[in-house]
Amino acid sequence: MLRRCLTWLLLAVALAGCAAPAASRAPVVDRPVKVTTTTNFITDAVARIGGDRVVVTGLMGPGVDPHLFRASARDVATLRDADLILYGGLQLEGRMGELFGELAERQPTLAITDDIPRSELLAPAPGTNEEYDPHVWFDVGLWGRACRTIAAALTERDPAHAADYQRNLDAYLAELDALDREIKGLMATVSPERRLLVTSHDAFEYFGRRYGLDVAGIQGISTAAEATTADVERVAALIAEHRVPAVFVESSVPRQTIDALIASAARRGAEVRVGGELFTDAAGQPGTPEGTYIGMLRANAHWIAAGLNGEPEG
Ligand SMILES: [Zn+2]
Repeated sequence: MLRRCLTWLLLAVALAGCAAPAASRAPVVDRPVKVTTTTNFITDAVARIGGDRVVVTGLMGPGVDPHLFRASARDVATLRDADLILYGGLQLEGRMGELFGELAERQPTLAITDDIPRSELLAPAPGTNEEYDPHVWFDVGLWGRACRTIAAALTERDPAHAADYQRNLDAYLAELDALDREIKGLMATVSPERRLLVTSHDAFEYFGRRYGLDVAGIQGISTAAEATTADVERVAALIAEHRVPAVFVESSVPRQTIDALIASAARRGAEVRVGGELFTDAAGQPGTPEGTYIGMLRANAHWIAAGLNGEPEG
C-alpha cells in the first residue's frame, strides 16, 4: 500500500510539472526527433519510418500487456521528455488514457489509429467497455494506414526531412504489401471448414476479417476481464463441433485458460493441441525476427496455418 502511495505521489509530482512552461511544438532542428511509444511493434514501425532522423523509446517490451500496463513515474518522465508521443489508441492502453489526455495539452501526443475511418473499425466483444476493437495491427492494410499517420506526425515535427520520411514510408509499405500477400497465401492452404482460430483473448477479429477465418477468443477484447467457466465451455463446444485440431496461446496472456479449454474439449471427446504461441499485443525479443511487426505477423501466420492444417509440431 505504501509503495502504491509512493508511486502516486511520484506521478503527482511528475504531472505537477505541467505548470512549467509548455514543451515546444516548434519544429525540431539540428538533432534527431525524440519519440516515445507504447507497444514494441509501434516502436518498430516508428524506427523504420523515422530511420536515423529519430531516437525512439518504447515503454513496453516483449510479453507486456498494453491493456493492463500502468506508467511508472519514470515512464511519465520519458513521455514528458519526448518531442512526439505515439500510442495505439482505441483504448488499447486502457489505463493510460487520462495520462495521454494530460500530456496532449502540453506536447504533441497522437494515437496512430486516429486517421483510420471509424467505418473500418470493428465493434468490441459484448460486455467490454471499449468503443472499438483496438487490435487493428492484425489487418496489414489498416496497419499501413497507421504507418501513414506516423510518417505525417514525424514530418510535422521535422519538416526539413519530409522526403526521408516519405521514402522510408514507401519502402515499408511495399514490405507490408508483400506480407499481406504472404499471409493470404498461407491462409488459403487451410481448408474452409477448419478456419476457426481459437485464442486466449479476442485479439484476432481483424485478422479473421481480412484473411477469412472465424475467430473465437475465450476472454473478451481486453485481458482485464477474466474468463469465466461459461466462456471456456462455449469455446470448447465450438472446437468439438468444428473438429479444430489446434488452439493457440498468446505471448502476453497467461496460458491457464487455454489449458482449461483443452481439458474441457477432451471431456467432449475432442482432441485438440496447442498449435503454438502467437504474438498478440506485443512483438518478440529485440534482435530476433519476431521482434519486428513484420516478423511477428509472419510467425503468427505460419503457426496458424500449420496448426489448423494439423501438421505435427515442429
Ligand atoms: Zn489485446
